[in-house]
Amino acid sequence: MSHKSHLPLIARALQHGGRTAVVDTQGAFTYSELLDASSCVATALLLGRQDLEEERVAFFVTPGFRWVAVQWGIWRAGGVAVPLPVDSTRPELDYILGDTGASILLSDAEAESLLAPLAAARNIRALPHEQLLACQSAELPDVTSERRAMILYTSGTTNRPKGVVTTHGNIAAQIVTLVEAWEWRADDRILLCLPLHHVHGIINVVSCALWSGATCEMLPRFESNAVWERIYGGRITLFMAVPTIYVKLIGAWEAAQPERRAALSRACGKLRLMVSGSAALLVSTLERWKEISGHALLERYGMTEIGMALSNPLHGMRIPGSVGTPLPGVEVRLVDEQGKPVAPGTPGEIEVRGPSVFAEYWGKPDATRDAFRDGWFCTGDTAVVENGVYRILGRTSIEILKTGGHKVSALEIEETLRAHPAVAECAVVGVPDAEWGERIAAALVLKTGRAIDLPSLRAWAKEFLAPYKLPSRLLVLDTLPRNAMGKVMKPAVAAMFQTVGSGDSVV
Ligand code: AMP
Repeated sequence: MSHKSHLPLIARALQHGGRTAVVDTQGAFTYSELLDASSCVATALLLGRQDLEEERVAFFVTPGFRWVAVQWGIWRAGGVAVPLPVDSTRPELDYILGDTGASILLSDAEAESLLAPLAAARNIRALPHEQLLACQSAELPDVTSERRAMILYTSGTTNRPKGVVTTHGNIAAQIVTLVEAWEWRADDRILLCLPLHHVHGIINVVSCALWSGATCEMLPRFESNAVWERIYGGRITLFMAVPTIYVKLIGAWEAAQPERRAALSRACGKLRLMVSGSAALLVSTLERWKEISGHALLERYGMTEIGMALSNPLHGMRIPGSVGTPLPGVEVRLVDEQGKPVAPGTPGEIEVRGPSVFAEYWGKPDATRDAFRDGWFCTGDTAVVENGVYRILGRTSIEILKTGGHKVSALEIEETLRAHPAVAECAVVGVPDAEWGERIAAALVLKTGRAIDLPSLRAWAKEFLAPYKLPSRLLVLDTLPRNAMGKVMKPAVAAMFQTVGSGDSVV
């Protein structure tokens, strides 16, 4: 089988040949096996054609060797990979299938009953991916770096998520900066416990490992004790996660017997680096993790649209509460409302420029145009530079929440809740929380004579919203606080959640 390719991940995998690329619940797989399997997937997708020419291929596959074989297969056939978020509801998946105009859908056998009707309704060719791995391999197209490679869905200030399109060149740039900054090596071994529909798991963990000839151990999903077991019994050298995962790992460590705790703490000494990102890391979490593991977590800042932009140093002082300095090849600046760079010590919006910045929001030229100013991507995050390092102060928009590392749109949740038969009005806000970063809190005004409680609201909403988007706090009000223009004052709503105790209205 010939695996000649201009795609750098594929070309590099050829050099790594017999090394172990992926370890999952099914076993260990080499780079050669990954090349062969992805070539089979590509051939099956092509069905005799020469190039998929950027057709979108959506896939719903459990993290593991097959996930990577499918992603690489789509790329090698010239398609655009659309990894579907595994915990999504039917309407959320249907939205992504419709928005991308996907022509092919690959799924795990377990997901077939959920996805097959959606594919049929949209005339999408649906294939169980297991079939694709055993086939003949044909000549594959030459895919160049400027072509579109992937679409990841991200929530923002609009009520529906937007598809972030990255090219092969963007992805390579996102990988290279991290490989250089964090000194990835072929003898590294990383544990994946993050979902694979987000930049953190896809780029920072899986792609950086496979670029470097390292090994990626993949858990199907996060589970505290399974992660501790791999740290304890395995040969992991790197670990990367969101702050909520560190909080859960701290909880599991604290629940263990003293002897076991000591053994787990000792095992952390085998790792060379532990990274936190995708949401603000509380200094208290950082300090507790240091006591438990001996590691000062390296905190970094990034976003689906840009990959990673700022990072504390691999060597040298990591400053608690800071996200360090720009990564190699990434330009970062802070600007005021007019787009003028601000002086050190003055807060400003983070803007980013460079080859790792995404190409466009899929099918949304206006949103793409609005997201850039003079070639710089406007992140919507505010930061300040103090003593030469960046500190994130928060988001420019109160409509974007971060819960458990997931970015969610308050507007999307409000639109769903408004459809509930008992709800007259609603406002969704984020309430600070030590474990989740923010909790999703819904303030409702009910229709006359109606009542509602949190469990029934959640049970109703889970048909439409992924579990992490469901409100976990509820306040029923007579009216929502509004300003003179009639606009709901979200900071006032958030303050109500902070001040009320656990009275009747809060569940
Ligand atoms: P996503 O596109 O889902 O990765 O979300 C990106 C957003 O997560 C950024 O715009 C920030 O608001 C937030 N974020 C990422 N890393 C950090 C960090 N280290 N500290 C605070 N917020 C962060």
